Amino acid sequence: MKLVIDESRCKGCNLCVLVCPYRIFQEGTELNSRGVVSPVLDRPERCTNCRLQPLYGRMLCGVCHMICPDQAITWVEEEPFEPHKVEVEF
Ligand code: SF4
Ligand code: SF4
Repeated sequence: MKLVIDESRCKGCNLCVLVCPYRIFQEGTELNSRGVVSPVLDRPERCTNCRLQPLYGRMLCGVCHMICPDQAITWVEEEPFEPHKVEVEF
């Protein structure tokens, strides 16, 4: 699971910044193509939904999702991990 903000819906109200107990949402600093400053995510893997939702199969915390007036916050399944060959230069 991965936390995402849909920038096509977000209006930059920063309510999510106020409510997240882990301060995962941080106020953004850059205007996007719609002229909105959306929040940025600080280590979103700390979110209880990202970590525990697959284990319990239900929404945990979810306060940001409930308070967002534009339904811009959601969780998506991540791509399966694909191993990559890494070359190390000495
Ligand atoms: S579900 Fe809770 S912990 Fe996760 S990002 Fe939203 S407010 Fe923060
Ligand atoms: S609460 Fe929703 S609309 Fe407001 S800044 Fe957060 S993601 Fe954007």
